[in-house]
Amino acid sequence: VSRLHQDHRARTPHGLPPVPSHDTPITMTKITSKRIHSVHSSTESHWVGDGFPVRTLFSYHGLGEQLSPFLLLDYAGPREFEPTERRLGVGQHPHRGFETVTIVYEGEVEHRDSSSGGGKIGRGDVQWMTAGSGIIHEEFHGRDFAERGGLFEMVQLWVNLPAKDKMTSPRYQRILDEQIPAVDLGEGRAGSAGPAKTFSPIHVWDLRLDNDNSLDLAVPAGFNTTLVVLKGSVRVNEESVLEPAQLAVFERDGDSIRLDHGRGTRALLLSGEPIDEPIVGQGPFVMNTRQEIHQAVSDFQSGRMGRLS
Ligand code: MN
Repeated sequence: VSRLHQDHRARTPHGLPPVPSHDTPITMTKITSKRIHSVHSSTESHWVGDGFPVRTLFSYHGLGEQLSPFLLLDYAGPREFEPTERRLGVGQHPHRGFETVTIVYEGEVEHRDSSSGGGKIGRGDVQWMTAGSGIIHEEFHGRDFAERGGLFEMVQLWVNLPAKDKMTSPRYQRILDEQIPAVDLGEGRAGSAGPAKTFSPIHVWDLRLDNDNSLDLAVPAGFNTTLVVLKGSVRVNEESVLEPAQLAVFERDGDSIRLDHGRGTRALLLSGEPIDEPIVGQGPFVMNTRQEIHQAVSDFQSGRMGRLS
């Protein structure tokens, strides 16, 4: 993940920092616009447990091929929570076959899982959890945050695993705010790659666009790419204007997108090499075949995904 910052800043918890298109070497390459495939709005919201008022901004039901390796994006909040002694969130549940990436913008999230991963992440932090062969976990608001109350805002992104890695051992990566490189987009290539380890090439860019400006961003040709607006508004490729909780899905061809944005805009730019394999999912499991889903359900029910101590 990286962050784009300052006037235009990007942070990247994972992936190489984005660069302005004009910074791309001109030898041999011609910059071509990555065209918009489609624009989407969330139409419903639901609660995940009693802690996460979520809008599902995209899912593999419908956009699986266009957004692979990304499976799903839930946007929780922004929402004010009253102080409480209660534990708000979602109790023990399993996952298999993919990774959950939780990015906290406001508030705190506490997590515990059966591979003994866990901990609290707060504002600006990222949790990158590989469910792999199977994990049981719980996700709650941080206890201190719950007692204080306040604004809560996070996203949870599901990233698919290639078939050969779906049964990999579970892994938990806690990536703190200060570990996440921030890149000033005005300065071109400065900065370093984000620290998260992944199973396929991915870029996750947290864009913070603090002035009125336009920006041509280089994105990899051949990758699936989506821009999700969380705050402010962005005109994309001089055609579509995106408001909060709206997203643009791009064609795989092309290597540049243009953003015209206002002050205080916040967006998430996701780009990844497609995993062109069948996606068969059911609830918390995402595999390649129906048979593997049956196996996951059976393994979970018979306790073979571990337990929380
Ligand atoms: Mn979960």
